[in-house]
Amino acid sequence: MKLSQMLFVTLREDPAEAEIPSHKLLLRAGYIRRIGSGIYAYLPLMWRVLKKVSQIVREEMDATGAQECLLPQLQPADLWRESDRWDTYTKAEGIMFALTDRQNREVGLGPTHEEVITTIAKDMIRSYRQLPVHLYQIQTKFRDEIRPRFGLMRGREFIMKDGYSFHTSEESLKKTYQDMAQAYSNMLRRSGLQFRAVDADSGAIGGSGSQEFMVLAEAGEDEVLYTEDSQYAANVEKAVSMPADAEPSTFTTFEKRETPGTETIDKLCKFFKCSSTQVVKNVLYQAVYDSNITVLVLVSIRGDQDVNEVKLLNELTKLSGNYQAKTILFLTVPDAEAQRKWAAKPLPLGYIAPDVADDYLAGSKEVNSKFLRLVDRTAVDLKNFVTGSNESGYHVVGANWGQEFPLPEIAVDVRKAKKGDRAVHNPEQTLQTARGIEVGHIFQLGTKYSQAMGATYTNEQGEEMPLIMGCYGVGVSRLAQSAVEQSYDKDGIIWPVAIAPYHAIISIPNISESQQIEVAEKLYTELNRSGIETLLDDRDERAGVKFKDADLIGIPYRIVPGRSLKQGKVEVVERATHKSHEIPIDEVNSTLKQWIEAALQ
Ligand code: ATP
Ligand code: MG
Repeated sequence: MKLSQMLFVTLREDPAEAEIPSHKLLLRAGYIRRIGSGIYAYLPLMWRVLKKVSQIVREEMDATGAQECLLPQLQPADLWRESDRWDTYTKAEGIMFALTDRQNREVGLGPTHEEVITTIAKDMIRSYRQLPVHLYQIQTKFRDEIRPRFGLMRGREFIMKDGYSFHTSEESLKKTYQDMAQAYSNMLRRSGLQFRAVDADSGAIGGSGSQEFMVLAEAGEDEVLYTEDSQYAANVEKAVSMPADAEPSTFTTFEKRETPGTETIDKLCKFFKCSSTQVVKNVLYQAVYDSNITVLVLVSIRGDQDVNEVKLLNELTKLSGNYQAKTILFLTVPDAEAQRKWAAKPLPLGYIAPDVADDYLAGSKEVNSKFLRLVDRTAVDLKNFVTGSNESGYHVVGANWGQEFPLPEIAVDVRKAKKGDRAVHNPEQTLQTARGIEVGHIFQLGTKYSQAMGATYTNEQGEEMPLIMGCYGVGVSRLAQSAVEQSYDKDGIIWPVAIAPYHAIISIPNISESQQIEVAEKLYTELNRSGIETLLDDRDERAGVKFKDADLIGIPYRIVPGRSLKQGKVEVVERATHKSHEIPIDEVNSTLKQWIEAALQ
């Protein structure tokens, strides 16, 4: 491709709409254009990158025996009602774009394809002889993200590879899951990314395993905890660890004390000169179940610990049955506004005790009349602890479970693991933290969808059994941008060779010099013919502008037919290192071939 014929527009300045380097660079270098919130056009250079990433993904998937297909993006609401996800996806979470067609039928734009694939499996899979089977597709997904941001990182329309496998047994599922873990590692390694596979939350259906593939980058939205010995890595949402030991309490008798202005743990510990490990803090949450019942949840946890809301959500989902519900729609920390709806009188916020009376709750058809009281394991063994008194400006000290306060019936692990905690597998290892961009997620689903939608097969004994499923997703467009987030410098993008839109660019310093043009054209034809994807910058621009643009768009090798032509040589500059080589014209092809092959190892 010749730049003179391309839609090639680069920007000098960082666009105001972009916050992180990769987003700025993709806009500046003319790879993407914003069309609306979370909606981007992939311009020709970007599309080449996306095709390369897709091809790597496809090759790794095909190598495992998975088969590519293409499923519809318009999905009938009825399918989502069968799996009981229509309301959650369109109303509660609201992530699915839903519309009504002219026959008054409801349809959604696919955010994911479990429902569609399970229907197909239900129709087509009859016998164990057809299993296992694994289908995947590479396609645009639609999600009405509440906060689309960072360009392709979190779009409302984005490209995903999603795959779904069907099995007769857990062992068979685990085998495919392992194959996927390997395939995903291969994809990311081949794309030139630094990444880590981490344990991930698998939501309330829980039990079975799930792993996320995190590209390591400061701008990542996820936090990863890991140990130096590489034996443990997990998303903070899922991570487990051993909390620091609690310090013995300095209080020996139960007393109520005046503690003015101590509504936070910090202020309270300063006031008493005590350790936050001697405090039981009581955190209030508001859960709305899909039966439209609101439940006020009081979590008692050790003062130095924080609640992991994902773990809490999972625990609360398990209790759905108690509230005639299947799942939770929202979990929030209630603000003053929310309290007006259910509080019979203002709560002593900052001074709440584990036994705060139920008569604070007005109670109604929509609001459960009792607090749901949970205690985190870190608070269970505390003795003579400090906690609230249910009266603003006062705390109690020297309190004990079973004496002044009944121990809440439900003990759970909802604490957030954090940097510096001791690891469970080896207490000598402490957890370290890193930021990551989730580019892939593999998941042992089990029978959630097959059971809900009646997708069964007949086993060897002639019994009808629900299909056991796995699902596996890679964010193709997110992956492409995360490569930039990991690899750029002050001059622009540095694409890994494997996913660069072109391998090389020939920048003609002065288009009024016929010899430069002649050599450039010759190399251009020869390189492209031999499979080295090459751009020709034949624009009527100053050399400096061309070099800047070549650096900005991040093409791995820049070829300059300039001064050294006299010696029959051209200059070849490596983008990543700015290292310059003088190479005889007839050796350019073979040299680049070697370099590219080495880079693709
Ligand atoms: P996230 O936690 O980032 O919202 P998710 O858990 O909803 O992602 P999955 O449903 O597991 O994502 O989707 C599989 C992959 O699709 C993710 O690992 C990610 O790479 C990509 N992805 C998900 N949402 C988006 C989005 N809004 N924009 C771009 N890529 C996305
Ligand atoms: Mg995920």
